[in-house]
Amino acid sequence: MKRILLLGGITEALAVARQLGPGHVYSLAGIGRVPQDLACTVRVGGYGGAEGLATYLGEAGISLLIDATHPYAAQISHNAASAARAVGIPYWALRRPAWQAQAGDDWREVEDWPGLIEALKPFRRPLFTLGREPLQHLEEIPPEQFWTLRALEACPGNARCEVIGARGPFRLDDERALFARRGIDVLVSKNSGSAATEPKLEVARERRVPVLVLKRPELPSADREFHDVQALLERICH
Ligand code: NAP
Repeated sequence: MKRILLLGGITEALAVARQLGPGHVYSLAGIGRVPQDLACTVRVGGYGGAEGLATYLGEAGISLLIDATHPYAAQISHNAASAARAVGIPYWALRRPAWQAQAGDDWREVEDWPGLIEALKPFRRPLFTLGREPLQHLEEIPPEQFWTLRALEACPGNARCEVIGARGPFRLDDERALFARRGIDVLVSKNSGSAATEPKLEVARERRVPVLVLKRPELPSADREFHDVQALLERICH
């Protein structure tokens, strides 16, 4: 039997993991919820880089590595591609297509944190939906700005920043209320491609609020690439 190691990180990964029987392994970094009701083995925590992962693949007798991590989790994807190559097994990836700007959108791509700070200068009340990275920069917030930062867990902000803890999926009406209540004049987002977090883009479009989009990182090429769960599951069965 082929033994699969599935690297999780996006919602779709869990849908794949639910279809894997005993003997296969679903691997999580350990920052989110760990499902307790799967037939496959769930492994939590890192491997110690590409070399550690390659060692694990060999020791656990893994014959197929499937990468279903987040499109911005580039490190684990590069580790996975290189570890699979090192032990000579196929490396498949489940990759979400990026969101595409629509008529009425004002999206501005930024390369990195300095580029983002520069692009933010004309604005006063940004909503950050990038995860926790902005927390490292709270002391650099200019006096004319007030940041709203949404992360998985709430935590203390400061006089110029409030941190809201919330997990998707987000409802359109709730997003509308959030933008209105806080007078959001710019949205800061990754291009995750997830339907669960897409309503904020619709609200930005409705309110003509610009969106600063952090550029997607380069990911390694995979032996097979899938864009939806069904196609991947069919190929696994095949
Ligand atoms: P990252 O920079 O690519 O990875 C950092 C380290 O975390 C990896 O080198 C690896 O440690 C460990 N790791 C990551 N995914 C793992 C997995 N599925 N199983 C076991 N170990 C894993 O990733 P990140 O951006 O910190 O994200 C961490 C996790 O959260 C990822 O699984 C990602 O899919 C998920 N996530 C990320 C984002 C995001 O915006 N970055 C958003 C939603 C979910 P070792 O080197 O020790 O093996």
